[in-house]
Amino acid sequence: MFLPITAEEVKERGWDGVDFVYVSGDAYVDHPSFGAAIITRVMEAEGYRVAFLSQPDWRKNDDFLRFGRPKLGFMVSSGNIDSMVAHYTAAKKHRSQDAYSPGKVMGLRPDRAVIVYCNKIRELYGDVPIIIGGLEASLRRFAHYDYWDDKIRRSILFDSQADLISYGMGENQTIEICRRLSNGEPISSITDVRGTCYACDVRETPLYGAECPSFENVCKSKKEYAVSCRIEQDEQDHIRGKLIKQRHGNKMLVQNPPMPPLTQEEMDWVYSLPYERTYHPCYEKMGGVPAIEEVEFSITHNRGCFGACNFCSIAFHQGRFVTTRSKESIIKEAKMLTEKPNFKGYIHDIGGPTAN
Ligand code: SF4
Repeated sequence: MFLPITAEEVKERGWDGVDFVYVSGDAYVDHPSFGAAIITRVMEAEGYRVAFLSQPDWRKNDDFLRFGRPKLGFMVSSGNIDSMVAHYTAAKKHRSQDAYSPGKVMGLRPDRAVIVYCNKIRELYGDVPIIIGGLEASLRRFAHYDYWDDKIRRSILFDSQADLISYGMGENQTIEICRRLSNGEPISSITDVRGTCYACDVRETPLYGAECPSFENVCKSKKEYAVSCRIEQDEQDHIRGKLIKQRHGNKMLVQNPPMPPLTQEEMDWVYSLPYERTYHPCYEKMGGVPAIEEVEFSITHNRGCFGACNFCSIAFHQGRFVTTRSKESIIKEAKMLTEKPNFKGYIHDIGGPTAN
């Protein structure tokens, strides 16, 4: 059963409201190759009432008001890939199709979707907790070079006005953040969760950890930018990585050390959750969501990569430790795929990163 996507569906479940609204820049595809599906299923399994708001119209308020103010907060992601990558080619030409939207329709999410969605939520709901995650938030967590602007942008935490970034693979930090919010802890005090970034006044900066050159300095000097990147990369290690700080004006971005990767048991559990493994039926008359085609009969076997090839962001997002699911878990998923009515007789691939 898909998560509710309308206020009527929330009522049908007998809920008087929702704990979280998950906002995604992609169409709703409940398949474990989609980060939004994994995180929402994990939250559901932990007992939270979660509504799914996919590709809301950011030019109006209606979609963001659909479920009312959630009891615990908003989770926001641009979708499976960065919205600028989804919208533009490397030659900076606008793409004509979007595989993550129904019928490949382009234009259903804004450029810089995380920033746009979060600012709309702030405008409508004031101080509601906002946690951002997914690739766009994760890879833009420090001051970073933006190819499309051809300039250094500050951490996405400041432009989005979110409270926390959940960076990397977000299951365990999501579980901890949700638990603490549901125990009544204010989001402002949730500053010690591994795998998250928060902002504070420079006078409240932790005294320990590693400090990158400031946003202002990396804008001025390529050498300082390189020093910053080196520190960011060196500390992405859940065993010995330190907390990292980076000043932006009178604010400090603080990245807590990475969350340890999931154990094999945890990974088996995550991939055993009751995914529908396809797009929401509301997209059927628009031709479905093409992004499902490549992954519908694929199995994720591992995460993480030690490679750190300089063109690849996997290590900065998934971490350098390679973790795998058990054989039993993979075989169970493979058997389940063979029983699907549209199974054509082959599984596309069983894999993950670190293929080299
Ligand atoms: S080996 Fe593959 S996944 Fe690993 S860093 Fe290189 S390109 Fe990325």
